[in-house]
Amino acid sequence: MTLRRSSLRALLTLLAALLLAGCSKPEPYSETIIAFGTLVDVTLYAESPAKADEALRMIESDLQYMHETWHPWKAGSLGRMNLLLPTGGWFSSGPSLLPIIGQSTTLSEQSDGLFNPAIGQLVDLWGFHGEDLPAGPPPEPEAIAALLDQAPRMSDLEIDGIRIRSRNPAVKLDFGAFAKGYGVDRVIERLVELGITDAIVNAGGDLRAIGRHGSRDWRVGIRDPRGQGVIASLEISGDESVFTSGNYERFFEWDGKRYHHIIDPRTGYPADDVLSVTVLHDSGAVADAAATALFVAGREDWPRIAARMGVQAVMVVDTDGGVALTPAMAERIRFESEDAPDPQIRPLP
Ligand code: AMP
Ligand code: MG
Repeated sequence: MTLRRSSLRALLTLLAALLLAGCSKPEPYSETIIAFGTLVDVTLYAESPAKADEALRMIESDLQYMHETWHPWKAGSLGRMNLLLPTGGWFSSGPSLLPIIGQSTTLSEQSDGLFNPAIGQLVDLWGFHGEDLPAGPPPEPEAIAALLDQAPRMSDLEIDGIRIRSRNPAVKLDFGAFAKGYGVDRVIERLVELGITDAIVNAGGDLRAIGRHGSRDWRVGIRDPRGQGVIASLEISGDESVFTSGNYERFFEWDGKRYHHIIDPRTGYPADDVLSVTVLHDSGAVADAAATALFVAGREDWPRIAARMGVQAVMVVDTDGGVALTPAMAERIRFESEDAPDPQIRPLP
């Protein structure tokens, strides 16, 4: 009898151990990687340190590859393309560039050209292409006018299989408004391939998250463009991206005026009607392109462009400090500060 009871206890202990092993919870692992000129924070849940390390090493090399390939002026695939486009002749494209050109062309058309990665020369003229910020002065109006006259657009590119040429010598590609979103999408794809279901990839406040943060949703803060700190937060579960374009990210001051890095392709000058635009969307690429386009569109026109780009959840902070939200964003966002703004709700057309 005694023997039987002790073997039963041993069996129960063994069963409990097996059960515990079977449902052992994945642990979160974090790492910061430098890419796209910013710090990319990756947090992911994996069954073991070895699995987490495998995923983090792969992401690191993917990000490094993307950074080198899509850099507009350093020696790499896009740098080479930007040297060859002004010749007008056909040449073969680096294979990884065709998909990014394809998706950004579609989004550029949907944005009525307000998101326009073909204006690389204008970005150069303002001095925002380099790692260091320009000190001013702003460019000569004649130089801006000369580039506007040439009206570079993504639709000037002609693609035939893997060959490409530009019908307009003024086209210079700059994916600064898009590569982060497109790249974060590729990183999430890679994690899903590796069987990872819960992760967040945060590139300086622009991010995409999948699954959950342990037993709760991922929670992200949105920077207050009117000052320091966080204006609002969002909870994300499932698979969503949050991208913000702001006038505080890269700028210089000249004669008491701020000149920042988001250029209105219609005027050639920094767009000056809003302080920031935040977009929530499944795709990082769409969210990134749309945040830039809606920033350029300004406080009156942004709902029209959002609808054209298939974006539902938007927050816009204008230069008078006013906050506007789409109904879809109003359902999700939570304001943080004591003096929370009284947002205007703007339905999309
Ligand atoms: P973002 O912070 O995503 O709005 O991207 C801004 C960056 O995109 C700038 O630093 C430029 O390299 C580039 N850029 C500026 N204006 C535009 C525009 N209207 N369309 C596309 N890219 C732009
Ligand atoms: Mg953008």
